[in-house]
Amino acid sequence: MRIGFIGLGNMGGPMARNLMKAGHDLVAHDLDEAKTAPHREAGAEWAESPEEVARRAPVVLTSLPGPDEVEAVALGPQGLAQGLGPGSVYIDTSTGSPSRIRKLAERIEATGARMLDAPVSGGTIGAEAGTLAVMVGGDEETFHALRPVFEAIGEGIIHAGPIGAGTVAKLAHNSISLTTRIVVQEGMALAAKAGVRPEVMLQALREAAFGKQTLLRQIPDVVFGRDFETPRFTLNLARKDLRLGQELAEEAGAPMELAAMALRVQEEGVRRGWGDWDNLSTFMLAEERAGVEIRT
Ligand code: NAD
Repeated sequence: MRIGFIGLGNMGGPMARNLMKAGHDLVAHDLDEAKTAPHREAGAEWAESPEEVARRAPVVLTSLPGPDEVEAVALGPQGLAQGLGPGSVYIDTSTGSPSRIRKLAERIEATGARMLDAPVSGGTIGAEAGTLAVMVGGDEETFHALRPVFEAIGEGIIHAGPIGAGTVAKLAHNSISLTTRIVVQEGMALAAKAGVRPEVMLQALREAAFGKQTLLRQIPDVVFGRDFETPRFTLNLARKDLRLGQELAEEAGAPMELAAMALRVQEEGVRRGWGDWDNLSTFMLAEERAGVEIRT
């Protein structure tokens, strides 16, 4: 298939190379023409503008810094919208804003083209290796038809829902992942300061419950409806652990601010009378604050 690609930076560059390796013909454009040099040497065509990319390729991908650049490329002078038409598909792989993506999709679809949002996760290592997670929002039929394109750049290909849903999944994922990283930083500093070597702490993280069970087993159990009243690890005992962790952090002089916030959430759960229930019953506080059901 002939594929247009705009924005061949740290992520887009290797993604475009993987599309070529999978046998697709590439039409490339970037504000910085030099970014496309390796692709042109490997046989890609250069296009002078996003409009020209859209005229020459039925499927166009973008990997741009953010919503401002995406809107400029899509709707600006000589933008994609001027070259797209019935039968073309525009896929934005940048990380943007769900509401702006939905508005943009209305403008794109007014040309007769289809639009999918498909933000990616896995960094430049995943982009090089072709192992990105791709979270796709938009019409399901278009998603299925373009599966081979997604499979050329990634391994975990997820249809998240209607247009914008890919970006919702990506932003929720990054909020979880980036907050967890900061708690891990606090905990590693505490362990080092209180006398456990970082290499040993790494091993503990891999072997103990968080690495082995929490993410892969316990959170899925909650989503698929396990009841909180039959505990595996009670909220009272989990709260005791966070309290002891806070005491140690104070003794060691390695404050854990995010863990202190987590302890406050647990205290609220205990006040609600869930102390003898599973510690994951605090999911209900998140549901209540957001006015939404997480358990299916
Ligand atoms: P980057 O800055 O390396 O690449 C962006 C490219 O877009 C550059 O080559 C730039 O010249 C080009 N560009 C900018 N404005 C343009 C315009 N108006 N017309 C044509 N080309 C234009 O950024 P990146 O790290 O590759 O990130 C791209 C997107 O992927 C971002 O939305 C980012 O949030 C997301 N992302 C990045 C990573 C990562 O680890 N770098 C991981 C996942 C998702």
